[in-house]
Amino acid sequence: MSEAVRPDAVADPDSPHALRRLSAIALGALADGATARGGPLPAGGPGQVAARTRALCSPVLPEEGLGAEEALYGVVRAAAEGAADPSARHCVAHLHCPPLAVAAAADLAASALNPSMDSWDQAPAAAVIEEEVTAVLARLIYPGRPGPDAVVTSGGTESNLVALLLARERARAAGARAPQVFAGANAHHSVRRAAWMLGLPEAVVVDCPDGRMSPAALDRALAANGGGPALAVATAGTTDEGLIDPLPELAAVARSHGAELHVDAAYGGPLMFSAKLAPRLAGIEHAVSVTYDLHKLGWQPVAAGVLAVADAFLLEPLALTADYLNADDDTEAGLPDLLGRSIRTSRRPDVLKIAATLRALGRQGMARAVEHCVETAVRFAAAVDAHPALRRRAGEPGISTVLLRPAAADALPGEAGDELVAAIRRDLLAEGRAVLGRAVAADHDGRRRLWLKVTLLHPQTAAADLDALLKLVAERAEHLSRRDA
Ligand SMILES: *Cc1c(COP(=O)(O)O)cnc(C)c1O
Repeated sequence: MSEAVRPDAVADPDSPHALRRLSAIALGALADGATARGGPLPAGGPGQVAARTRALCSPVLPEEGLGAEEALYGVVRAAAEGAADPSARHCVAHLHCPPLAVAAAADLAASALNPSMDSWDQAPAAAVIEEEVTAVLARLIYPGRPGPDAVVTSGGTESNLVALLLARERARAAGARAPQVFAGANAHHSVRRAAWMLGLPEAVVVDCPDGRMSPAALDRALAANGGGPALAVATAGTTDEGLIDPLPELAAVARSHGAELHVDAAYGGPLMFSAKLAPRLAGIEHAVSVTYDLHKLGWQPVAAGVLAVADAFLLEPLALTADYLNADDDTEAGLPDLLGRSIRTSRRPDVLKIAATLRALGRQGMARAVEHCVETAVRFAAAVDAHPALRRRAGEPGISTVLLRPAAADALPGEAGDELVAAIRRDLLAEGRAVLGRAVAADHDGRRRLWLKVTLLHPQTAAADLDALLKLVAERAEHLSRRDA
């Protein structure tokens, strides 16, 4: 008889010896990798990163295996050494958060137990935990509604897709034509892509003069639709700037045309944890559905997406029977039917890490962490405003995003200013010193310019971290403009 794999190789939760030993190796490799990296991302740019990574991980499929210890160490070490580490204070490009240790540990347990959320007989307790968590996540958005519901998704992209799918099915059930989607010019690309995937008419783009959707423009666009079924998609926390569309006004405009409202709050949704910040999302309760992510402001490892709906019955179009997973007689005999809570079949128990996090921090702890990020952005914006060599895009900073440029870029002719901004970002990336984002946004004179984007999601950023970041940007701007002069 051939030995398939070593007998202790399965991550058996009843005898966690192998997992404990290997976890220690993985944690050691994480630490060694971080030390070798020595900054928020690896120095040397893509070529050097690829060479170092391949040296630790290739060949991926050797003829004879290396054994768990060596293979695990190499892969984890390579991933850590070459990581853009969101827990580093100068890794601030994207909506890419540092995951909480409690969430990461719960995710390890989820991997070991491997409940799959598509049938009760694969996830008896995880199904209950999901029910509890989704009830809380639904009430967070719709505290005043009698029966809201929520489903767990892989992120904002899937949430927006399911939201548009449900809108399409509501129109179909009413015997109407497919709904026309109206999305702001500031909307996430996943909204247009969802319309494309679902065979809906191409989304109408609504004007966003100051980065937010204009209610007057939505009014004109809906009037031109001739009263057919329509879904207006507003954004609460734009990806580039963290700006929140005027939800109460947009909801009123939509209502006046008999249109439905979906809010993409992938970024901003967790403001609802904070009594102080929730008023910024006033009007969200008028939405028929709301997208939000807990792997952005929520400190979960990817994936942790949510789609909340105003009433549980709105999810009915997802209902589906597959005899091997939820046969009618099993459901009648009392086995919970989970299949209709996703467009996926096999599905990770992402609720376990969410449940552990919410219980660990409580509502107040989540609120304080969100507030910290928002306050950090205000402090950072003030520091940019006070800096002689830098300037900020005019207006209030978005949720926790700040756009800035070196003043030196403004003195340059033509495209050279934007090129300087792009070069600063690429230089800092190549040197492994900072991970800054980029965004194109209108300036005070109406011209669209390139900005450095700083997305502050670390729940423990300190003022000194921000000062050091500004110093880095200003020095690099000066160095590059002197070189080019
Ligand atoms: C990030 C983001 C998305 C996409 O979410 P994923 O979780 O990356 O799929 C959608 N909408 C907005 C506004 C976002 O910021």
